Amino acid sequence: MIILAINIKDIFEVIEQQIKNYGKDIVHTEDGTVVTVGDGVAMLYGLENAMMGELLIFPNDVYGMVLNLEEGAIGAVLMGDDSLVKEGDIVKRSGKVVETLVGDALLGRVVNALGVPIDGNGPINSKEFRPVEKIASGVMARKSVEEPLETGILGIDAIIPIGKGQRELIIGDRQTGKTAIAIDAIINQIGKNVKCVYVAIGQKESTVVQIVEKLKQAGAMEFTTVVSASASELAPLQYIAPYTGVTIAEEWMSKGDDVLIVYDDLSKHAVAYRTMALLLRRAPGREAYPGDVFYLHSRLLERAARVTKEFGGGSITALPIIETQAGDISAYIPTNVISITDGQIFLSESSFKSGVRPAVDTGLSVSRVGSAAQIKAIKQMGGTLKLELAQYYELAAFAKFGSDLDESTQQTLEHGKRIIELLKQRQYRPISQIDQAIILLAIKSRLIKWLPVDFMSYFKDSLIHHFNKSPEGKKLWTRLDKAQAFDDKLEQDVLAEIKIMLKRAIKLIDKYDYSQYGKIEEYKKI
Ligand code: ATP
Ligand code: MG
Repeated sequence: MIILAINIKDIFEVIEQQIKNYGKDIVHTEDGTVVTVGDGVAMLYGLENAMMGELLIFPNDVYGMVLNLEEGAIGAVLMGDDSLVKEGDIVKRSGKVVETLVGDALLGRVVNALGVPIDGNGPINSKEFRPVEKIASGVMARKSVEEPLETGILGIDAIIPIGKGQRELIIGDRQTGKTAIAIDAIINQIGKNVKCVYVAIGQKESTVVQIVEKLKQAGAMEFTTVVSASASELAPLQYIAPYTGVTIAEEWMSKGDDVLIVYDDLSKHAVAYRTMALLLRRAPGREAYPGDVFYLHSRLLERAARVTKEFGGGSITALPIIETQAGDISAYIPTNVISITDGQIFLSESSFKSGVRPAVDTGLSVSRVGSAAQIKAIKQMGGTLKLELAQYYELAAFAKFGSDLDESTQQTLEHGKRIIELLKQRQYRPISQIDQAIILLAIKSRLIKWLPVDFMSYFKDSLIHHFNKSPEGKKLWTRLDKAQAFDDKLEQDVLAEIKIMLKRAIKLIDKYDYSQYGKIEEYKKI
């Protein structure tokens, strides 16, 4: 029997029933009685047949989910107004585990954690349901990751590339641009035949509304479903939301579609689970999380996959987000999720504050499988970028101490500064893979040294414009797009065009005061 503050009358009833049934075979009841209720958690008596995760029906249209199966008692979490449930109420089994609507009718819609629409656009026209808990695809069902999932962010696609079916964690302190990266990745899927699911867990409702608005404006909502369990909702709903999201994605994967799913964020998900577990009186462990908190996220992220033809042939790429405290990636939940995912994009607060956005820390970020999925042109041109940045950061730290630097050190520093400027990218401005390859060629050729650091962003924009809009540029762009790789001839042709652009940029800058950047004669040498 559970030891809780229990209504005397209820105990009486329970004991009476037990006495009545004494000596008889165990009676398996389909109904139960609420013994205690509070904080969104109910302890129940009866319901001996209830299954783990089963949906229970309480009076007043309140639903609950079985989470604790104990001898003589059942612990359930409520997914509705718990003030409508009283001690002594009768609870019924539904015989079903929690399910959600799935299918194409969900595209463009905003639903709650149970798949019920909350966008005021009427019911969802789908008859297909799937249980939200499912075992992930097995080894035999999976294919290796070899197609890129383009985020449109140069600093990610070139250095920490993501492949379809991969799980890449986005991790960083609060307000470091984590959500921005995920939303940009969704927006970049326009015209790429990838469906998206954005799961908001414990976010402010106003933030979710803004995100939906942004996706609509960008034209990305047509192929996106938003699952929202906001901060004001009960912990059980926040707990279920990501499973509902991945279930919606799985239906598409089984039909052969590629899906991108964002869990924003799993720190709040873990906190919701901890709340439930403590209320259910499970033993608290490290940081008061229950012992199975690892399983909470592993069984979710394992469901990301790229499956073979027999299993539908689609893929689910997952971008979970984790918020750190003061950059501490060795805390409990961050280390758990880092160990489950295939790499992480680490965002540094200090870079973000100094204006480097996206604030990707290339030293701490890694993609363990994605490079197999990069297009060849980017692989050819971006291969050494990470190393060059690492050299820059190392030398920059040294250069602080002395002013007398030799020529080659100075060159590495100048080059690094320019790379960092070129990797800065505004929100909602994806860059195509071919444009990225061209920018990377400009970096690799070191031609950018002829332009002052402040002009890098201007130069990048004009480069993209030129190769997309001018007839000569577009011709080369199309050639590269067709080949997806550079050969010697193509490289030379693109370089020649980049040089023309450089000269134009220098001429333009020449009209202004150029003296602060050094001797103009030098710049005219190219
Ligand atoms: P939270 O911890 O609150 O969830 P977050 O890490 O998800 O924050 P965002 O909300 O994505 O961070 O971004 C924080 C702010 O920085 C926003 O105002 C956003 O517009 C801005 N921002 C993010 N990325 C960029 C960028 N590349 N360029 C300019 N501004 C950006
Ligand atoms: Mg955010």
